[in-house]
Parts: sequence; C-alpha cells; structure tokens
Amino acid sequence: MTRDIELVLPYIPLSEKEIDEIFALKKAIFKGHFVYTNGGHGDIYVDKSIITLWPIQTSILCRDIAWQWRDAGIEAVLGPAMGAIKLADRVAEWLTIFTGEEIPALYSEKDINGKQVLKRGIAEINGKRTFVIEDIVNTGGSLEDSIGVCIGAGAIIVGCHSLVDRSSGAVTAQTLGIPKFLALKTMTVANYTKGCPLCDAKIPINTDRGHGEEYLKEHPEKRDWK
Ligand SMILES: [Zn+2]
Repeated sequence: MTRDIELVLPYIPLSEKEIDEIFALKKAIFKGHFVYTNGGHGDIYVDKSIITLWPIQTSILCRDIAWQWRDAGIEAVLGPAMGAIKLADRVAEWLTIFTGEEIPALYSEKDINGKQVLKRGIAEINGKRTFVIEDIVNTGGSLEDSIGVCIGAGAIIVGCHSLVDRSSGAVTAQTLGIPKFLALKTMTVANYTKGCPLCDAKIPINTDRGHGEEYLKEHPEKRDWK
C-alpha cells in the first residue's frame, strides 16, 4: 500500500487510486451477477463489512474523512450500528487529533421494531454540531433514519459522509435535508429491476453475497447456469 498510518503533516488527501487500492487490497468489491436488497440485479457487489475488519485500512480511510471535515466545527460524531460504529470511533479519534478538541463517538442502533434509536450519549449531541458517518449509501434510507435520530436528540447536523455512495446520484445533501453530503468513493452501479442483461446472457447468479439464494428459490430454472 502506498499510504502509511503514521501521520505526516501537511497531510495529503488520498487519491481516488489510493482509495481503490485499499478496497482492492481487502477484496471488498466483487464482480459477478448479484441480486440486491431491492430485488434488482447488477454486476458489482460491495461488501461493506470487509473494510472495517481491518483497523489500519479503516483508520486510513477515516483519517481522510476527518481531514476533509476538520474545519467544520464538529462536536460529535455518530454512526448507525453495526457497520458504522467503528467508523464513527475512528473519525472522532482523527478529528480529535486534527482539532485538538475532544470529540465523542456515538452510535444509533435498531430497537426491537427495527427503528433507529439513540440509547447512549444523548447529552453529548444535544445542541451540538454533529457529523454522521455511514459505511454505504444505497437508497439513503438508513442515513435518513440516523439523521432523524440525531435531530430528535437535539443535534445540529453539520453533514454526512459515506465510505461508498452507491446511490448513483439519487442521494444528495438536498434529499437528505442537510448542509453537505460527501462520499469517499462514488459508484454508479446498474440495478436492473427488469430486463437484466446478465440474466439474458445466463451468467450464473452469485449465492454467496446479496439475495441470490432467495431469488433462485423463486427462479429454480436459473440455478443451472454455469
Ligand atoms: Zn439478472
């Protein structure tokens, strides 16, 4: 890898190539024929859980995010469970290093009804300039929920940042109703909800990632594609 975890100032932001190298190094992006949560098909799958398995790479990416927001006056960082808990922690740590201000890392979690709630640290974001970090944005739904949780706790949202934005431009600061939304990596991913060219070409459907297995139960005739 071209970048070290040691902080060298002045810090030079990661290039697109370096970000891609980290994702490639940890094999977080897969190519094939996948079935997504919304039922659509496509040829790229981002496994959001893989990157955060690796603390050094996670820290390098979070350092980059924190650097971009170091002058935003952020007083608290929140990430929705589970995937963004580690990200919130690392971003808050780097913001603390960059700004000299102690910045807490919080997480929202789902209650038994699947609704995002904030159970711990409400006092730390009430009236505070809060930053929301997310691992991957598809429809923006869970990010909207996290923003809602923060606002409900009295936070002032400064902005949001996602490791990967897979919304193909559908999710913006405007749609989220916040001042600024950024992503470390923006991907335009085909999501064929009908007329899938991969199905037309009989490319085998991946059952290890995404919802391929459930899909094949409903479409057993597609199981034999080799
Ligand atoms: Zn298909």
